[in-house]
Amino acid sequence: MFDRASVVTPGGVNSPVRAFRAVGGTPRFMVSGTGPYLTDADGREYVDLVCSWGPMILGHSHPEVIAAVQEAVARGTSFGTPGEGEVALAEEIVARIEPVEQVRLVSSGTEATMSAIRLARGFTGRAKVVKFAGCYHGHVDALLAAAGSGLATFGLPDTPGVTGATAGDTVVLPYNDLDAVRAAFAAHPGEIACVITEASPGNMGVVPPADGFNAGLKELCAADGALYISDEVMTGFRTSKAGWYGVDGVRPDLMTFGKVMGGGFPAAAFGGRADVMAHLAPAGPVYQAGTLSGNPVATAAGLAQLRLLDDAAYAKVDAVSAELRTLVGDALTKEGVAHTVSSASNMFSVFFTDQPVRNYEDAKQQEAFRFTAFFHAMLEQGVYLPPSAFESWFVSTAHDERAVERVAAALPAAARAAS
Ligand code: PLP
Repeated sequence: MFDRASVVTPGGVNSPVRAFRAVGGTPRFMVSGTGPYLTDADGREYVDLVCSWGPMILGHSHPEVIAAVQEAVARGTSFGTPGEGEVALAEEIVARIEPVEQVRLVSSGTEATMSAIRLARGFTGRAKVVKFAGCYHGHVDALLAAAGSGLATFGLPDTPGVTGATAGDTVVLPYNDLDAVRAAFAAHPGEIACVITEASPGNMGVVPPADGFNAGLKELCAADGALYISDEVMTGFRTSKAGWYGVDGVRPDLMTFGKVMGGGFPAAAFGGRADVMAHLAPAGPVYQAGTLSGNPVATAAGLAQLRLLDDAAYAKVDAVSAELRTLVGDALTKEGVAHTVSSASNMFSVFFTDQPVRNYEDAKQQEAFRFTAFFHAMLEQGVYLPPSAFESWFVSTAHDERAVERVAAALPAAARAAS
């Protein structure tokens, strides 16, 4: 299948990190998913610790999500008109996340961040965007400077195809460094439209914000008249009922969402202050649109998933994550492998270094070759990890005792392989 794919698709994949380039080997083609398990085209079953890169927080094929999708799809797949499902999903988001007074639905996280920075520029009349090295906000031209995720994996500082003029308005700063942000505002007073940050980064591995970092960003933005944009595409509806906002309570001007809110379908969103959102067309002059925005099937899936995510569901995901973190850490310690298990709520990843990891530079100091050995040993034993040392691991409410035991059983050999 990979050979076939490689003929008709660049690199054989439709998103680079799926290609196993960082770890080598042939990517697995998955044909079905049930609960915490994926089954590949050769009939092998894996405990899934990727969860489609975050969205599948209830596990695969959750019966209530599938039923909602079947019910929606039977009524038609796209109308290109307003519909009740998209209103209900917007209401659910606004009800959960207090700083979101209004929200616009889109189809991918990339569209959400692209639209949010356009809106910030339109609202402020300013051009510059501040982002942090190692934070990934999708493949938006202006934000593909020192991004994490696939770019961290490939070690590319930037990408051909983004012009100097586009990247020229992007100021890239080290993560967790408020002095650098202060200096940027001092160097460009009244020129910065927004600071965009992952609410708690997961695209350089999991590197949580230092105490007071997000609050400091908000304060510096407010003092200069710039907008503070919290990218919650990964953390939103995952790290708590109200995402990372529910954890640190720092009130952004704009927020972006994706992944969990789509229930495994392409649904994403950006939203925030009503006075800012009022600048968006057709209410205001900043243009943004989408043929499939608010798609009835995607919104039905997202709404069904969000409605199932109550306090008990988050408690379950948090507990599974904590258990796995302990198991992974203990196995590596036992083999004497230098490591740091880093977590932010239920998101976590392993850095193969015992030095503190506060930013992208620190993350890149890890011995990533150990991850490669670890990854393949886990894969061989039926545990599917993200195929890169710079990605978050994800678990779901469906990760039960049996799934955790299977991971536990695979860990000793993987830790040995990493040593
Ligand atoms: N923002 C963050 C924090 C992400 O993690 C991602 C994707 O991984 C995106 C934006 C882009 O989302 P999408 O892949 O849906 O375009």
